[in-house]
Amino acid sequence: MPRLLADVKACQGYGNCITGAPDAYDIDDDGKVVLLTEEISDADRPRVEEAARSCPANALSIED
Ligand code: SF4
Repeated sequence: MPRLLADVKACQGYGNCITGAPDAYDIDDDGKVVLLTEEISDADRPRVEEAARSCPANALSIED
């Protein structure tokens, strides 16, 4: 199953990822991304991958 990865240090808190995949990403009180799940289904992958790609800081990736 595809695994979500987040580089918290790179995250700038823009929130684009939450707009695209609010079931996978959230932001904590420090303005840093939080993964709401570690793995996603293949069916959810295109949508979550697009949300990850929308990150201006390139903080998000998906690993097989
Ligand atoms: S889009 Fe990128 S920079 Fe913005 S909150 Fe999400 S991970 Fe952080």
